[in-house]
Amino acid sequence: MSTNEKILEVKNLKKYFPAGRGKVVKAVDNISFDIYKGETFGLVGESGSGKSTAGRTIIRLYDATEGEVLFKGNNVHAKLSKADQLKFNREMQMIFQDPSSSLNPRMTVMDIIAEGLDVHRLVKNEKERRERVEELLEAVGLNREHANRFPHEFSGGQRQRIGIARALAVEPELIICDEPISALDVSIQAQVVNLLKKLQKERGLTYLFIAHDLSMVKYISDRIGVMHLGHMVELADSDELYKNPIHPYTKSLLSAIPLPDPAYERNRVRQVYDPSQLDTSEEPEFREVRPRHWVRCTTKEFEQYKRELEGKE
Ligand code: ADP
Ligand code: MG
Repeated sequence: MSTNEKILEVKNLKKYFPAGRGKVVKAVDNISFDIYKGETFGLVGESGSGKSTAGRTIIRLYDATEGEVLFKGNNVHAKLSKADQLKFNREMQMIFQDPSSSLNPRMTVMDIIAEGLDVHRLVKNEKERRERVEELLEAVGLNREHANRFPHEFSGGQRQRIGIARALAVEPELIICDEPISALDVSIQAQVVNLLKKLQKERGLTYLFIAHDLSMVKYISDRIGVMHLGHMVELADSDELYKNPIHPYTKSLLSAIPLPDPAYERNRVRQVYDPSQLDTSEEPEFREVRPRHWVRCTTKEFEQYKRELEGKE
């Protein structure tokens, strides 16, 4: 359940990588958005649009080139005291796309999940450690007995559940889920999404949920931001984004996915994104075309988009 309390504020964030010969890759190029406590914010865009870089910069795996990230009001890129750094490391967690490569194959599930408990001294003794790990295994739909096994003994979906248990162990408030279901069979994807939703409800978690297509994201997200080439081109409540996409790139992403909705399918026409149709008379800015619905556009496009939305529900 989403609240009015901002847990994360991303302000004009940039992350550039050197690309040789004095060139740079503008992986994240001036994006701004807020995430409210308890909500799921979906971040979508095709491969290479800068989603993972955004997530990694937010959690401080990368230094920002420019801009700010405030977590519960505190700038996470500022120099933090050891205690604050440790607290931040606990309160924000990340789940990765490929659970196989993010779980150490030589560690038991017990030790993988307990690592954070040990680092943050969240358990007093071996007995408590085991109990906590077993509780976590059950919370993610695995068995207590799984604690003594190794990652390779599990299926992809189960390994992702282990990754989720590891993140949950330290009782985080915000979890960055970087395409947590993209590597899984379609039949397993919904199970993992449902698990994430259940855990969110039980524990009041906030998610930044990254995905490269819009199909599952609609189901899990309260609001969605669409990224393209390092920019955020559109941001709106999920329903609004699906009903009234405005940016041509969002329209093309949406037109690519089949939805189990006959009315929608009847009208679905595949649209190809053609950036040459965009107005280039000035530098586009992020503008609110109607309450809570933002689009990256020029002043001319802004007027055009507002007209396009007039009278729409
Ligand atoms: P996404 O997660 O949306 O697929 P990424 O954030 O991984 O996108 O990548 C965005 C862009 O930044 C791509 O052009 C990618 O090649 C580049 N990039 C990502 N990580 C690095 C890095 N560590 N060094 C150099 N370039 C990178
Ligand atoms: Mg990625």
